[in-house]
Amino acid sequence: MISVEEALEKVLSYVDVLEAESAPILESQGQVLAEDIVSKIDIPPLDNAAMDGYAVRADDTRGASGQSPRFLRVIDTVIAGAISRREVTQGTAVRIMTGAPVPAGADSVIRFEDTDEAGRQSSNSHEIGILCEVRSGLNIRCAGEDIARGATVLGKGTVIRPAEVGVLASLGMSTVKVIRRPVVAVLATGNELVDISQPLPAGKIYNSNTYSVAALVRRYGGIPKILGIALDSEKSLVTKLRQGLDADMLITSGGVSVGDYDMVKDVLASEGEISFWTVRMKPGKPLAFGAFRGVAKNGSPRRIPHLGLPGNPVSSMVTFELFARPAMLKMMGKKNLAKPVIDAVLEEPVVNTDGRRMYIRAIITKRGNKHYARLTGPQGSGILTSMSLANGLVVIPEDTARARAGDMVKVIMLGWDEENNI
Ligand code: AMP
Ligand code: MG
Repeated sequence: MISVEEALEKVLSYVDVLEAESAPILESQGQVLAEDIVSKIDIPPLDNAAMDGYAVRADDTRGASGQSPRFLRVIDTVIAGAISRREVTQGTAVRIMTGAPVPAGADSVIRFEDTDEAGRQSSNSHEIGILCEVRSGLNIRCAGEDIARGATVLGKGTVIRPAEVGVLASLGMSTVKVIRRPVVAVLATGNELVDISQPLPAGKIYNSNTYSVAALVRRYGGIPKILGIALDSEKSLVTKLRQGLDADMLITSGGVSVGDYDMVKDVLASEGEISFWTVRMKPGKPLAFGAFRGVAKNGSPRRIPHLGLPGNPVSSMVTFELFARPAMLKMMGKKNLAKPVIDAVLEEPVVNTDGRRMYIRAIITKRGNKHYARLTGPQGSGILTSMSLANGLVVIPEDTARARAGDMVKVIMLGWDEENNI
């Protein structure tokens, strides 16, 4: 039995960063930039008004006040998207809307509220009274103040979030080069399993692992390829697994314990290689990992990493979070592979009977400036609703035989993603 750390190290040693692809910017969210993004334009492209008002020369406002307005001749109106061909010369102003380019000659924008516009009959007046002095540059957003032409705006390796999608759009980019998403083939094993599209005969259960695992694959940015259900026979397993050999990773659930029909290890041994098959953790001890022999597009031999998750629905989800997720993130070019971990006060005692690292499903709440962890209820690895109730996994170390109420514990926050880390 190896430790969680050793197991993770082995899993990660079998996966590499995938190739880059060109993706539409909106689809690239969560992916990692495969190139530096250098701006070809200034943003904003021209000096423009930050307020609705009048473009003026600051000099022309000297001495202006509510008691003694300075009157300027209005020579044009310019709205966002248009360009005024008039030049603001001494004694003149151009009426201007937010976002419109500042006309030549003007060095500031005075907002409507600081003019006598509101008191006038018509906004088409040829004259405007200025009610205060302004300084040069007031209410003007300068060309290139957000992004200067030639600047590296986003570096290679950046994870695309909504803000980056917006930045790319502001540069006029419709597609971007990112590390592609891993395709993860998902296969359930077990003679007892029935697909959700079928009625449930006596003695059978619905296959839930395929769906929880495929949902996790999607959540972490991968593309699930569902291979269905294999029977507990070597032939059925191999046939189904071969349909997944074009994937970047194979994930099976079930068939990894020591029962008569637990074939996954045998198949791994005959069709590839086993790296390990038990981990000192609970749930999730019977976790098998290795590589399946496949063929790359160019005909050369290829190893496809294969994670054999335990069949129990909680075990398969927990082991996915601990091993499949970081493997996927590594393939996607991410650097931070760990889920966020916080310290919390344990509210109930936990007994660790056999020296494995325990991952307890827990409900984490924040009271004052502390987090508290209470168990979701019974912790059997078949109780999938415990995962549904949980927002965190309390980690009880291997060498802790008993954790008491009031002890500080580490909690893996299931609901938080690594991009939230600061
Ligand atoms: P195994 O690891 O194959 O011995 O399975 C352990 C337990 O998990 C058994 O009770 C199985 O019926 C159950 N199980 C295995 N695969 C699935 C699945 N895909 N969906 C729901 N339960 C499963
Ligand atoms: Mg089974």
